[in-house]
Amino acid sequence: MKATATQPEVLISEVGPRDGLQSVKAVMPTADKFVWIDALVAAGLREIEVCSFVPARLLPQMADAAEVVRHALTHPGVTVMALVPNLRGAEAALRAGVHKLTIPASASAAHMMANVRMTREQMIEQIRAIVRLRDEIAPGVKVEAGISTAFGCTIQGEVSDDDVVWMAGEAVAAGVDEAGLSDTTGMANPAQVRRLFNKVRAVIGEHTGAAHMHNTRGLGLANCLAAYDVGVRTFDSSLGGLGGCPYAPGASGNVVTEDLVFMFEAMGVRTGVDLEILIAARAPLKKGLPGEPVYGMTPEAGLPKGWVQPRWPA
Ligand code: ZN
Repeated sequence: MKATATQPEVLISEVGPRDGLQSVKAVMPTADKFVWIDALVAAGLREIEVCSFVPARLLPQMADAAEVVRHALTHPGVTVMALVPNLRGAEAALRAGVHKLTIPASASAAHMMANVRMTREQMIEQIRAIVRLRDEIAPGVKVEAGISTAFGCTIQGEVSDDDVVWMAGEAVAAGVDEAGLSDTTGMANPAQVRRLFNKVRAVIGEHTGAAHMHNTRGLGLANCLAAYDVGVRTFDSSLGGLGGCPYAPGASGNVVTEDLVFMFEAMGVRTGVDLEILIAARAPLKKGLPGEPVYGMTPEAGLPKGWVQPRWPA
């Protein structure tokens, strides 16, 4: 992407309404989700993962998925994304009118089985079926595979680079538009992030997708910067770092959107997101999830004296 005065150089893909809300026990009321999503859009976020299409008995937090998609679609210029673990979820998401699907495809065989009860080969078959359905009923919709546990797995431990590259290559061969790498378990380090994105890009080239980093061990931003350094330009993050990791009590989950935007804007890398309005979007999040911990160093510290944004003349 060529940088211009008006075009962001990186795409911040906000995953809080999906990754965040499905990781907390409390259910945010639908009306509060609407207000929160509106606030995220007002801040300039142009891609939002708004929900996942999974049975409500498994994830009551996502029971209103179709309704949330319908609401998000009222915002022109926003790419409305949903996570779908299988063909049934994909069909519901496509019928609801999403612009983009993301499918969690674990590099770790053990995690894949625990998460969606499929072997990796079965997941590749699901992806192929989802792509076929997309071609049939919603050809404009983008399909992304998020290669989860790409940097390590809490069940099987180490995940080999070869397994990650293999999964990304198979997903692209099965027809996805993009395959990104997810640090589902917060185990990544910057050297590993550079190495793996380079290896994956060598095989799938322009199909290389987002960096989805967690901040479980405090390396979320360092890992995003490492990914940026090797050419990644889409970053998943969550407002307030919502999505605490159950294996690391007190640690935040996803990279905090506010801190990520601060890092890039302070470096002179344009995100298209207004930091002040973004920080204001924490209010509806807190209101919809009373008592839930909300993270972020930048909102706590406040913006630096003399902070001006955007730094490019319009
Ligand atoms: Zn995540």
